[in-house]
Amino acid sequence: MYHQQDSHQEIRDAIRALCAEFPSEYFRRIDEQRGYPEKFVEALTHAGWLAALIPQEYGGSGLGLTEASVIMEEINRSGGNSGACHGQMYNMGTLLRHGSEQQKRDYLPKIASGELRLQSMAVTEPTTGTDTTKIKTTAVKKGDRYVVNGQKVWISRVQHSDLMILLARTTPLSEVTKKSEGMSIFIVDLKDAIGKGLSVQPILNMVNHETNELFFENLEIPAENLIGEEGKGFKYILDGLNAERTLIAAECIGDGYWFIDKVTRYVNERVVFGRPIGQNQGVQFPIAKAYVNIEAANLMRYKACELFDARKPCGTEANMAKMLAADASWEAANACLQFHGGFGFASEYDVERKFRETRLYQVAPISTNLILSYVAEHVLGLPRSF
Ligand SMILES: Cc1cc2nc3c(=O)[nH]c(=O)nc-3n(C[C@H](O)[C@H](O)[C@H](O)COP(=O)(O)OP(=O)(O)OC[C@H]3O[C@@H](n4cnc5c(N)ncnc54)[C@H](O)[C@@H]3O)c2cc1C
Repeated sequence: MYHQQDSHQEIRDAIRALCAEFPSEYFRRIDEQRGYPEKFVEALTHAGWLAALIPQEYGGSGLGLTEASVIMEEINRSGGNSGACHGQMYNMGTLLRHGSEQQKRDYLPKIASGELRLQSMAVTEPTTGTDTTKIKTTAVKKGDRYVVNGQKVWISRVQHSDLMILLARTTPLSEVTKKSEGMSIFIVDLKDAIGKGLSVQPILNMVNHETNELFFENLEIPAENLIGEEGKGFKYILDGLNAERTLIAAECIGDGYWFIDKVTRYVNERVVFGRPIGQNQGVQFPIAKAYVNIEAANLMRYKACELFDARKPCGTEANMAKMLAADASWEAANACLQFHGGFGFASEYDVERKFRETRLYQVAPISTNLILSYVAEHVLGLPRSF
């Protein structure tokens, strides 16, 4: 291999061996059927990989974000798509950091064993988008229950999860001093909720990513399902987002290497005008440039992981890693598609599928513009624009 290996070779080898059982053809077929890679997610769960971040006392392996990111990277690098299951890695972090001892004992061992899946987190709403503090979904306490009303959009993996973390307003925006206050997070038991106040409308989309519109109409949630303190949910969600962004950066790095491997092989073999197309510098340079950017993004990804694992502030690095990696994987995807010529568009080459999959990360879970705005305001001290 032409790219550097790091000290996590054992994890890489184990994930590569598992992924070898689920080659590109498997993910291609699932994509064509708009299905869910159930067998793959099961194998990953039963081998313990999706419980990497769960401490050993709750049945997980107690690894750090660095190791978890290597797992996600290797899945994408093998031609697969971690999008089907990455939610579990970071969602359970919210429970782990802010849940009560009882909640942790109730849920984490079952998540670790695969008995329960916590794949979903419901934040985005149709009328407020990225302006999260304006969410309109409300949870009103009535006795020993909260009653939820409102709507969410783009909520992923609901149909393949048992539990979902929900962000809702518990104090109206007009009654809080800071707009980030007055929101709370809850664990929703999906089997108790669907059809009893929660309805789910799947959204067909460009990637084969199971995602949905959710409608809440007087959904009752037991009060004990509140995570942490009422009113502090936005802060808790932000904590979890650093892990999410860093893991997705690693997935983009995995995609980037997959595109570089694929296109390098192809341009070495494809002969036009009597020589390999890879002999032309017009072909070499875009591939080399994408590779340079992937390697650079990888450094920021490890920096974000290192800070997160040392429990140091890492919001800036997690955001920057996500942006650099998503840009680099997109650049590699473009070069890969371009130099496959017409064949890049044929499903059997997997390039068009991976091209669609990696494009998502320019928009979700946070768009590039919002990252730039974060850096401008919080790192460079430029005036707030919104
Ligand atoms: C496949 C998929 C899966 C998803 N899964 C989940 C999930 O599981 N849970 C969840 O809660 N959400 C999920 N999302 C939602 C995702 O996080 C949002 O789509 C994303 O944060 C952008 O929000 P929006 O779509 O409302 O865009 P908007 O907020 O409407 O923004 C649209 C565009 O305008 C730009 N923009 C907006 N405001 C500004 C500004 N002030 N300055 C400059 N540019 C601006 C943005 O950068 C963006 O490109 C998913 C989305 C997709 C597509």
